[in-house]
Amino acid sequence: MNQHIHCIVNDCHYYATGNKCVANEILVATDNFGATQPDNVDATMAKQYTPQQAGNCIETCCKTYVPKGSKKTIADNVTKMS
Ligand code: SF4
Repeated sequence: MNQHIHCIVNDCHYYATGNKCVANEILVATDNFGATQPDNVDATMAKQYTPQQAGNCIETCCKTYVPKGSKKTIADNVTKMS
């Protein structure tokens, strides 16, 4: 699969010029899930979670977000593709 994820959160470690996400995988969740789960819950653990309904697009977020310059870039086992 040649997938492209577009993102405009430019203070994330995985953000790249051109509004691209260069994480090799991400976990997208409902806002409620994101707000109630610890930061180590991420893309590599996705298969174990039960899907949830967001209700509308305002209720979703990206759990792969890692602030640029953060020392937490290896905490979730997601790597940058380039
Ligand atoms: S990991 Fe999430 S917040 Fe970071 S660039 Fe990718 S989609 Fe955006």
